[in-house]
Amino acid sequence: MKIKNAEISWLESGLPYSTEFQDIYYSKDNALAESQQVFVQANKLEQRWTDAAQDETFRIGELGFGAGLNFLQTCKLWQASEQRPPLLHYIAFEKHPLRRADLRRVLQCWPTLSEPSQLLLEQYIDHSEGCHRIRLASGITLDLYFGDAQEQLRRRMQESCPSIQCWFLDGFSPARNGQLWQESLMQLVAAASDQTTTLSSYSVAGHVRSAIDSAGFDVFKRDGFGRKRHSLFASRRTPIEKQAAADASAPTPWFILPTAQKLGRSVAIIGAGLAGCSTAYSLAQRGYKVTVFEAADSLAAGASGIARLALRCRLFNAPSAEAEFYLQAYNFALRQIQQLEKAGSPDWEATGLLQLHKAMNKRKPLQQDILQGLYSQSVVRLLDCNAASQQAGLALSDAAWYFAGGGAMNPVSLCEHYLAHPNIHCVRTTTITALQRTDGRWQLKTNDADVATADSVVIANSYSAAKLSQCTELPLQISRGQTTEIASNAGSESLCSVVSGERTVFPAKAGRHLLAASYAECDELQVSADDRMENLRLARETFSDKETIGLEALTDRVALRCNSPDRFPLVGMVPDVSQMRANYAELTRNAKARFTTSGHYHPGLYINVAHGSNGLASCPLSAELLASLIAGENLPCSRDIVSRLNPSRFLIRDLKQQK
Ligand code: SAM
Repeated sequence: MKIKNAEISWLESGLPYSTEFQDIYYSKDNALAESQQVFVQANKLEQRWTDAAQDETFRIGELGFGAGLNFLQTCKLWQASEQRPPLLHYIAFEKHPLRRADLRRVLQCWPTLSEPSQLLLEQYIDHSEGCHRIRLASGITLDLYFGDAQEQLRRRMQESCPSIQCWFLDGFSPARNGQLWQESLMQLVAAASDQTTTLSSYSVAGHVRSAIDSAGFDVFKRDGFGRKRHSLFASRRTPIEKQAAADASAPTPWFILPTAQKLGRSVAIIGAGLAGCSTAYSLAQRGYKVTVFEAADSLAAGASGIARLALRCRLFNAPSAEAEFYLQAYNFALRQIQQLEKAGSPDWEATGLLQLHKAMNKRKPLQQDILQGLYSQSVVRLLDCNAASQQAGLALSDAAWYFAGGGAMNPVSLCEHYLAHPNIHCVRTTTITALQRTDGRWQLKTNDADVATADSVVIANSYSAAKLSQCTELPLQISRGQTTEIASNAGSESLCSVVSGERTVFPAKAGRHLLAASYAECDELQVSADDRMENLRLARETFSDKETIGLEALTDRVALRCNSPDRFPLVGMVPDVSQMRANYAELTRNAKARFTTSGHYHPGLYINVAHGSNGLASCPLSAELLASLIAGENLPCSRDIVSRLNPSRFLIRDLKQQK
């Protein structure tokens, strides 16, 4: 999951040289002009944008992102173009990302690109495999996939993703990097393309031309740049048979989603907690008109309404879809919070977070050497007890894993920030009790009275989702959590990082520490004196001197979290349970049965629940995933992650277990 950075040295020109591939990144003649001629002009981008001005989005793919020169040139042209679609989606693959400091140094070579370079640098990430979604500026989205292009392309959920209209193949010389020019990769490029797709490259090597030709493109030689005689341009030759929605060979056809339908742009969201508000925000950024319905009279009235939530990445001992999701989600949440701060800060404290080693995952203890192999030090690193105590500002009782990007967020302020978007309207004290699809739209009802209609609906009201008839079979669980606020004292005021042991202790704010939170599988809402005592006792164990924090409890708050049986959120389309049961009934007799029928889902109905105690980290990316599904965009998560989040997983598991 962590990624190896580019190993480079610096040329006299100030540009980088790859010591691993033994090749230059850019022509020393004139990198800008070469990129312009070989990529931007070869694909006639300006003309094609004008011709496609009525479309919603233009999508460009790139193999070999490097320092993003081609990307930045494209952005600059895009921003200067008067007639073009409103959205540019740039989908780039990079095996060895440049370190941030190296990227900064390269970008200084191109002052004419300083504006988009600055925006890229602000959000650029130089660690962790997988897709990093960056909303660069209004209208430009960059999906930066770190990892080998072939593997990352294969892991994309292609059948739900729209095709890419233009490719830049820019992965070092084929003689030095055969992997990026293989025929199998070109087949994946072709599969992600459509009839209108073009591609270009500086390489006209025979085997490159033949690989591109075999993948179904007509290949042409164009004039090369500088001392190179030729460059390559190709356009799609054979009509592409779009992969059928149901692929008989797929081992999990139930997770194959219907192709995104062009529904209208009004969305109703049920629930104004973190899941609902973040989804509203992601949709509003795409121009959707969003109405959020909330049963309470305030935002974040449920588990999201705790005074402060800790931002950290949930850690795992082995790579898996879950581990990848939480890592990507943490990185995305952090980037989004930093962007929101620029636009007027939500109540965010970038304190870092220390997680005591002994308190982590008691059932499956985390293993130091494995974690260090899986996670970049930029995400988390182990500090011995002394170093951790220094970071905390108080003597801790154990070594700790340090999340430098972690911190504390007031979730109500975050929800307010999300909902301040002009495309969002929030209706409070309105409990949606039923959903009915009529004439291709959803009707939202409260006690049988119609309150609204919308093209799509996102159910984001935590465990209450199970009261809606479409969700009664989703196995949502409730766990009770009690938080306690205590008075700070002269000693405890020195705490300057969030520290998580058996309880999470937040640095003092206005004379109070928040201690979070007890855990019990019940729905009792009464404050419990025992839970308070337990919160105090366990919080004190965080510190080497238990007297560090006082015993003067000021207030307690109880909230109910929503979990799923596998402790992973439910994010995606809502399955049509009876249809799915009928389609896959054979699983009750033969768990390995194969099917040709893809999943059956309620059109335009989505869900985003069961984030447990991790919602601050997991909601923003889940929201972005849902917004991408609804808008029919490239998805910011791999097929494995999207399938793992799919709410129908429990239904299929039950069928296989003959339940
Ligand atoms: N297009 C870049 C730009 O505009 O700044 C320059 C790209 S540089 C010539 C080639 C890039 O391809 C390097 O950053 C290298 O790490 C990347 N690369 C090499 N092999 C790769 C692979 N198998 N998958 C993805 N990227 C790869």
